Amino acid sequence: MIRCKEVEFQRKIEREAYEISKSYMAPCQKLSDFFADTETKSFGSVNPTYKPGVVPSDIRKILPGRICDNLKSGILNIDKKLKGFATGDALLTAPETRSSSPVRILRDETLQAIGIEGLYPSGEGAGYAGGIMSAAADGIRCAVKIIEKLNG
Ligand SMILES: Cc1cc2nc3c(=O)[nH]c(=O)nc-3n(C[C@H](O)[C@H](O)[C@H](O)COP(=O)(O)OP(=O)(O)OC[C@H]3O[C@@H](n4cnc5c(N)ncnc54)[C@H](O)[C@@H]3O)c2cc1C
Repeated sequence: MIRCKEVEFQRKIEREAYEISKSYMAPCQKLSDFFADTETKSFGSVNPTYKPGVVPSDIRKILPGRICDNLKSGILNIDKKLKGFATGDALLTAPETRSSSPVRILRDETLQAIGIEGLYPSGEGAGYAGGIMSAAADGIRCAVKIIEKLNG
């Protein structure tokens, strides 16, 4: 099991989110409640779309205060540019903890894993991409290296 503070932080948030409903239904909060620091009991004009479902909640229970504060100021900033972004019935569904890999499998200039010939760590899981296009581009980069190697 990977043990580093980033992964521990990710696991802590995922564990706390699960504990809210003891299921994989995601905690979800109305923006007006988030700004009022109160728990959401029912949703307004915006219906949640997250599958397998959500539970009305208070995302401050799972996200540290500094992240909630940054979210609040960020949402208000976007609302200055995108009027209505911070509408009270808008929903915050959290957490999305699986974005780019916090670790990277080191590779050499031939894009093979250091010390493991023939293994080409590539894409998101190996720590070389953070999105569909960058993963595809990295896959192509590795394929080109494999072809070069096969053509000697
Ligand atoms: C909720 C969510 C939303 C996202 N939204 C966007 C977005 O809007 N735009 C964007 O650009 N990116 C988005 N991403 C990121 C994007 O999905 C990834 O960056 C991209 O899919 C990474 O591609 P990949 O080929 O490196 O890895 P993956 O797509 O993860 O593919 C890895 C594959 O390996 C398979 N696999 C795993 N273990 C094994 C094994 N032992 N044996 C055989 N096969 C195995 C898996 O089943 C999977 O099919 C999102 C990701 C998530 C989770």
